[in-house]
Amino acid sequence: MRKLLIAVALMLGGAASAGAQPFHLIPGAVPMDKGPDGNTIILDAPKGLVVFDTGRHPEHARAILDYAKQRRRPIAAIVNSHWHLDHTTGNWDIRQAYPHVAVYASNALEGALATYLKQGREQGDKVLADPKTPAAQKAELLRGRAVVDHPERIRPNHVVSRSARMRIAGRWLDVHLSRFAASEGDVWLYDRKTRTLLAGDLVVGIVPFLDTACAEGWAKALGEIDRVPFVTLVPGHGDPMTRADFRQWKLAYENLLDCAQGPSEKSACIAGWQKDAAKFIDGGHREYVGQALAYYIDRRLRAPDEQARYCKPLSPES
Ligand SMILES: [Zn+2]
Repeated sequence: MRKLLIAVALMLGGAASAGAQPFHLIPGAVPMDKGPDGNTIILDAPKGLVVFDTGRHPEHARAILDYAKQRRRPIAAIVNSHWHLDHTTGNWDIRQAYPHVAVYASNALEGALATYLKQGREQGDKVLADPKTPAAQKAELLRGRAVVDHPERIRPNHVVSRSARMRIAGRWLDVHLSRFAASEGDVWLYDRKTRTLLAGDLVVGIVPFLDTACAEGWAKALGEIDRVPFVTLVPGHGDPMTRADFRQWKLAYENLLDCAQGPSEKSACIAGWQKDAAKFIDGGHREYVGQALAYYIDRRLRAPDEQARYCKPLSPES
């Protein structure tokens, strides 16, 4: 019996090392006292590394650059899932180290610069002018303001305008574009070889970030993801998911939407999410989830003007 156990252990050990992770994940934290960093996923390609999302804070960008250094491989391409600053601010750190890096993203940043980010900058300036604002928060606001004022630092030089199989840094990837979902243009990747799907914020472990979301478009995008035969899905925030995890998350999202669109009390919708998505909410974020959802239900899901706003281009030119 003992022999058998050892044999099984060896077998499992062998299987684990043979199936080394097909990607490198630099997890983004979702702290309570400052803005989050999105997850960064790094893939190997013939011409160098492909970096999917670049985080917000300098420490996160540093971890990406350190990984490339340790691997002795250049960063050949960045793919941004969407323009939110917790996924794009690090583009600038990477571009300074690798000036020829190719940057793939949708053109949704343009509409955001004319609207959401412009208003955000004005609000940020008020916070910056307040002497009571802590230094760390000021540093974060200034870092965000720098890329809003100089969008060329984070802007794509390869605009993704439709879903297509594309060669990025020499590696074939299925590039998908979902319009009017978590943002005006969400880019997600599928790697057929390893059956890995990089979802960006179309899937977020803790709570869907609905700040710039078209709720129905987002539900449609989840349907598109579901039709892809992935084995592992990496969300924009939180731990990698199996297909069963994703199905559970998708159901939780659909239930939340149904609840918010119906006559139920807001608290019932929040409780529903907390139950359906319990697996994806760590103990430290329970209260945060309640507060975030209360805001999103009032200000987004039950605000027809806001839904109309985010279900069409933010700016007429975009
Ligand atoms: Zn995010």
